[in-house]
Amino acid sequence: MTLVVSKYGGSSLADARRITRIATRLAGLRRDGDDVVVVVSAMGKTTDSLIALARQITAEPEAREMDVLLSTGEIVSSTLMAMALKALGVPSISLTGAQAGIRTNSMYSRARIETIDPSRIRRELAAGKVVVVAGFQGLTAEDDVTTLGRGGSDTTAVALAAALGAGRAEIFTDVEGVYTADPRIEPKARPLREIGYEEMLELASQGARVMHPRAVEVGQLYDLPILVASSFGTGPGTLIRKETTMEAQNKARGIAHDTDVAKITVLGVPDHPGIAARLFEPLAEAGISVDTIVQNSSLQGLTDLSFTVARNDLARARTIVEPISKEIDAGGLEHDAHLGKVSVVGTGMLSAPGYAARMFRTLYEADVNIDMITTSEIRITCIISEDRVADAVRALHSAFQLDQP
Ligand code: ASP
Ligand code: MG
Repeated sequence: MTLVVSKYGGSSLADARRITRIATRLAGLRRDGDDVVVVVSAMGKTTDSLIALARQITAEPEAREMDVLLSTGEIVSSTLMAMALKALGVPSISLTGAQAGIRTNSMYSRARIETIDPSRIRRELAAGKVVVVAGFQGLTAEDDVTTLGRGGSDTTAVALAAALGAGRAEIFTDVEGVYTADPRIEPKARPLREIGYEEMLELASQGARVMHPRAVEVGQLYDLPILVASSFGTGPGTLIRKETTMEAQNKARGIAHDTDVAKITVLGVPDHPGIAARLFEPLAEAGISVDTIVQNSSLQGLTDLSFTVARNDLARARTIVEPISKEIDAGGLEHDAHLGKVSVVGTGMLSAPGYAARMFRTLYEADVNIDMITTSEIRITCIISEDRVADAVRALHSAFQLDQP
């Protein structure tokens, strides 16, 4: 008997008909004798609607209440899925994250899973039931409900698969797997059959929305393969797993992009120790994640310091940085709310020189101006204007021959 742990995303559960369709598939697995645990996201755009609703009540909803509110989206879909299964004659039970034994730290809205006690799930499986777990949520040591960050149901599924000792986790979504680039932007993008954890992590954290980056991290930590495939399609999907070829292919693997980038520049910062800490510690404390940071070399004891944040965090970040920039006698503050970024990712870059040059030349030939540059061992990222992102993705996809298998 195989244990199947799968997750279905919100678009696959957008209405009653789709829920029943997926229940029918799960019922088939159960009848074939598999043990079935299924993690569900909230239906369709439920999470967005709940956030909008809270904002109509107050501009700054309390984090604890917000997490309880958002956790209800997944609870709704888990109950409906359990009902759909029972209507098909398959014994089933829905569990909240808490009932499924998922414990997290107490960082509301971006909690991390600390432990999972899978005993309740095991009992229900032993009783022959399909177990439907509400994704994206857990419980703190003080028994308060938390959520894991947008897209966090992926992480629930991978973590549960690891805790239950399943052979892999299966993530079903509205696309055929992980593509060489976003197919809505580059129609020549191809689904990949396989990709390593590291490469997937870079793509996911640089904007490829197909997988929650933390789910990939958990998969890597437990060496648990993750299949990403379409809920309704028939393709094989993409298997995310440990790099198998020792000799990395001399090729880029994919292009990630993100149009949600804002930049703050602190001008004329006095160049002495401790300044960066004074600027960035309060941002970290406010839970604002800073992405690219560039500091110029100093001219006459003054430097310019630029960093990027998600557009949503721009106003809050400015409010935090403004008074500090006065305290440290900086020359001024500027921002640009309309940036984006494009990244070329591939372990092939580790050993082969020339990737950066090729990227810069391609952007130059596509008449795309580069605002900032960052790299990791297997990634090069350029911050560019938001309205040039789509052209940049297409130009890079062809320059790095990603349209060819
Ligand atoms: N419903 C949550 C979201 O929309 C979590 C998820 O879909 O995984 O972000
Ligand atoms: Mg989702």
